[in-house]
Amino acid sequence: MINANDPSLKSWIEVPSGSDFPIQNLPLGIFRTASNPAPRMCAAIGNFVIDLPVLNYMSVFDELDFPPDVFVQSSINSFMAQGKEKTRRFRNRLAELLHEGNEEIRENAWHFLHPMEKVELLMPIEVGDYTDFYSSIEHATNVGTMFRDPNNALLPNWRHLPVGYHGRASSIVVSGTPVRRPMGQTRPNDEDPPVFGPSRQLDFELEMAFVVGQPTQMGQSIPMKEAEDYIFGMMLFNDWSARDIQKWEYVPLGPFLGKNFASTVSPWVVTLDALEPFRVTGPAQEPPPLPYLHFQEKKNYDIQLEVAIRTEGGAEKTVSHSNFKYMYWNMCQQLVHHTVNGCNVRVGDLCASGTISGPTPDSYGSMLELAWKGTRPIEMPDGSRRTFIQDGDSVILRGWAEKEGLRIGFGEATGRVLPAL
Ligand code: MN
Repeated sequence: MINANDPSLKSWIEVPSGSDFPIQNLPLGIFRTASNPAPRMCAAIGNFVIDLPVLNYMSVFDELDFPPDVFVQSSINSFMAQGKEKTRRFRNRLAELLHEGNEEIRENAWHFLHPMEKVELLMPIEVGDYTDFYSSIEHATNVGTMFRDPNNALLPNWRHLPVGYHGRASSIVVSGTPVRRPMGQTRPNDEDPPVFGPSRQLDFELEMAFVVGQPTQMGQSIPMKEAEDYIFGMMLFNDWSARDIQKWEYVPLGPFLGKNFASTVSPWVVTLDALEPFRVTGPAQEPPPLPYLHFQEKKNYDIQLEVAIRTEGGAEKTVSHSNFKYMYWNMCQQLVHHTVNGCNVRVGDLCASGTISGPTPDSYGSMLELAWKGTRPIEMPDGSRRTFIQDGDSVILRGWAEKEGLRIGFGEATGRVLPAL
């Protein structure tokens, strides 16, 4: 069988140059069409969606021995639960079927190929639990500088463990879902009592999330050498945040209603396997963490990230260019730390990175940092200015890894802000 990561592979399906979805990617999602509204599994290639139940019906995956209904699901959870050995063979087999020169399924292409703009992409994961980390040292330093002490921005625990909190799974939505400006309690002025009303400091957080593909038992800890077996793939993640609500409520137990009203994910889950060529060494960790967090080799990934804001009826402006490689704590360390106390994980759990800020002011991952607490407004193409996100604005996250002509992309995670009710 061929290896889907082979950079020389080409498909008989046209893949436009610059596409996020070459034959080496084959990310997974859930979709439906006007003629068949049942949610089902798909993969992406070029500008097309591959209807996996139809392909499966042609008996081309029989050797993989999947349960008969694995592709006819409203999430990819059952598929992920088959384990990496099988899901990896599936990706290689799919690449083999789509590889130029292979005629096995080509004449039936019209049965299983849908133009991407003709389908509705749905939430790909049934999210069990959602955890948000705080693993970018640039972001944590910026926030610490703004709200505490510029000379002592990081709290004492920060370099010793991947700080995180438990978020809420119920309000994680797929790209394209509108986001309602939250109502809440804030205290705009430290001398006055709190007030109730729409958040006036609605922000995005540029993040990526990894998806857990294998469960653990309560009491079990994932050792570092096995961590990647549990990480199925990654998505773009916008952790919408109401800064004014957050600021007033977060002491002493951390984020709550300023965070849990919405998070937006991209519709495609890119497998960790497809990201293999983009491994890089992460930032040096000083002081060295405790032994259970020690790791071998490259655990970071070079994934370029972008945030654009589109004003209502107006043009789009890219406001941030960042990279996943800046993460101080890597995904394996996050998962190992998460389970070191015996906390069990389940298939479909999401762990988000925390805001991914880079070292320069144009690489910051939130409006809070880009406009520096409201002091440096960003000019939009229509002449208006932004310190936070306004009603009618769309926030668009994009991400892709690129090297030697190979581009593995994530598509977009987009959400448009509706006025508070
Ligand atoms: Mn966050």
